Amino acid sequence: MSQQQWDAVDDYFAETLIGHDPVLEAATAAADEAGLPHIAVAPNQGKLLHLLALTQGARRILEVGTLGGYSAIWLARALPADGTLITLEIDPKHAEVARRNLERAGLGEVAEVRLGPAADSLAALEADRVEPFDLVFIDADKPGNPEYFARALRLTAPGSLIIVDNVVRGGAVADSDSADRSVIGTRALHDLIAAEPRVSATSVQTVGAKGYDGFTLARVQG
Ligand code: SAM
Repeated sequence: MSQQQWDAVDDYFAETLIGHDPVLEAATAAADEAGLPHIAVAPNQGKLLHLLALTQGARRILEVGTLGGYSAIWLARALPADGTLITLEIDPKHAEVARRNLERAGLGEVAEVRLGPAADSLAALEADRVEPFDLVFIDADKPGNPEYFARALRLTAPGSLIIVDNVVRGGAVADSDSADRSVIGTRALHDLIAAEPRVSATSVQTVGAKGYDGFTLARVQG
């Protein structure tokens, strides 16, 4: 198996099940033009997030890690007209590109990009005692994942979903001696979830256009 084969299969799935999407293509082009890194979710992963949000009947979605707003567009498209997506981003340039992309996608009314370190923005949401989110997508710096997950848990309710991206770390997540901060953060996230009776979760390895990767899917229990 090679990256070339994974790319070809992802292209095939995206062509057959997603097709031409001018809004998402414009969002990707704008992110490229602004020099943003190529670390957004792949189209089929974006659609998975969209389908999970629809299945969830999500009215309120929280995202940690916006980049150019690609996954935010997929998620916000699943919302009803009076729904809300709040997405948190530390980099002012990323936030600006994302705001323009969300506006161009016709999602400016439902989607809000909050600039600042995610930990601070999450703490502010908690302090404001906002309504619980139905779905949280965590996709920012990986050392921060245990804190983001713990805060997400306080911002959700029984039945909510919390999804964490990039949990495989090239396979290093299985290495308990790793000194890599992203691996340490990802293992701490798994320890936290394992010890948390309010959550039922699984982690799944994936391959595709983004290489060898994986995600954690957690459901907040009653
Ligand atoms: N979810 C996006 C998508 O699929 O389109 C990709 C997000 S990208 C993998 C991670 C983003 O998290 C980057 O834009 C980065 O600037 C942001 N980020 C990194 N550390 C952060 C922090 N401490 N607080 C908020 N955002 C952060």
